[in-house]
Amino acid sequence: GELGPEQQGLIIAHYGQQLDVEVLEGEDTGTVVRCFVRANIDSLVTGDKVIWRPGKNGTGVIVARCDRKNLLQRPDNFGALKPVAANIDHIILVISVEPEPHDNLIDRYLVASETSDIPAVILLNKTDLIRDHNRAQIDALLSRYQALGYDVVRTSAVESGDQPSPEVQALVRDQTSVFVGQSGVGKSSIIQTLIPDEAIRVGAISESTGKGTHTTTTAKLFHVPIGGDLIDSPGIREFGLWHMTPDEIEYGFREIRDEIGHCKFRNCRHMGDPGCAIDAAAEAGRISPERLKSFHRILQDMAEQQARGLKLD
Ligand code: GDP
Ligand code: ZN
Repeated sequence: GELGPEQQGLIIAHYGQQLDVEVLEGEDTGTVVRCFVRANIDSLVTGDKVIWRPGKNGTGVIVARCDRKNLLQRPDNFGALKPVAANIDHIILVISVEPEPHDNLIDRYLVASETSDIPAVILLNKTDLIRDHNRAQIDALLSRYQALGYDVVRTSAVESGDQPSPEVQALVRDQTSVFVGQSGVGKSSIIQTLIPDEAIRVGAISESTGKGTHTTTTAKLFHVPIGGDLIDSPGIREFGLWHMTPDEIEYGFREIRDEIGHCKFRNCRHMGDPGCAIDAAAEAGRISPERLKSFHRILQDMAEQQARGLKLD
């Protein structure tokens, strides 16, 4: 059939063989066109910039994918990595005062961020729950990550009310963000302050496709009224919590990555064998005891998980 001229678009949602493309140029800028994909383009995901052409009945055809800055992936039920979202500026790793961060969980998310080459920012939520009995522990935890070069931001979704707090605004404005973190830390509450319109947020779960209502759990891109984009899905929120190889874990601890080359043992797993350069670096204070313990713990957990042959879910 006849197709209109090529133009740029942004993928904001994905439904099997069809995608929603936001128009990025011309008088229809900002409108959304349901597009089909030319057979020879693989793995388009939310956040991808594409070249598309208008077709019949208000639909379109995607003819090319533009280069990506990065790609967030996660494993499918068989453990194979599947692309989920593209062109993300940063992962906002939400932790909270209560529930307090689960052992290792921050480091696991950070390993995933490092190996995906997507910067991570740590956002401490529920600062309204800080008291004398937990203040020192929280400060020490955050200082440890700041010392590693991670940005740390504090907020309280409860105290900020209906508006995003100034700290969260500064974080999200003009960036493409994803929020990750364990259940109960306040991700939904924070996102609610950023995208107040429930109809839009709920649209991520249930979408009218013209062939009836379609339920999707795939990533969806939202424009944040204060500026910036948010890519969200239930799967993205658990980004990083899957099997990691020893190489990924070594690379994912940035201060350990720097020391690995000094270990003179071939095939060393850096699990505390005498003479290992990682232990020496820890003794010299270049690796904190907490991070070393976490590194060992994650290596061990992953080895056990592999030995059990657990299927990922
Ligand atoms: P999610 O699972 O990460 O999406 O967390 P939710 O947004 O569902 O929040 C979990 C619980 O924490 C809810 O009861 C929220 O009301 C509460 N909560 C969220 N943010 C704050 C906060 O800043 N302070 C306090 N005290 N509670 C909060
Ligand atoms: Zn070693």
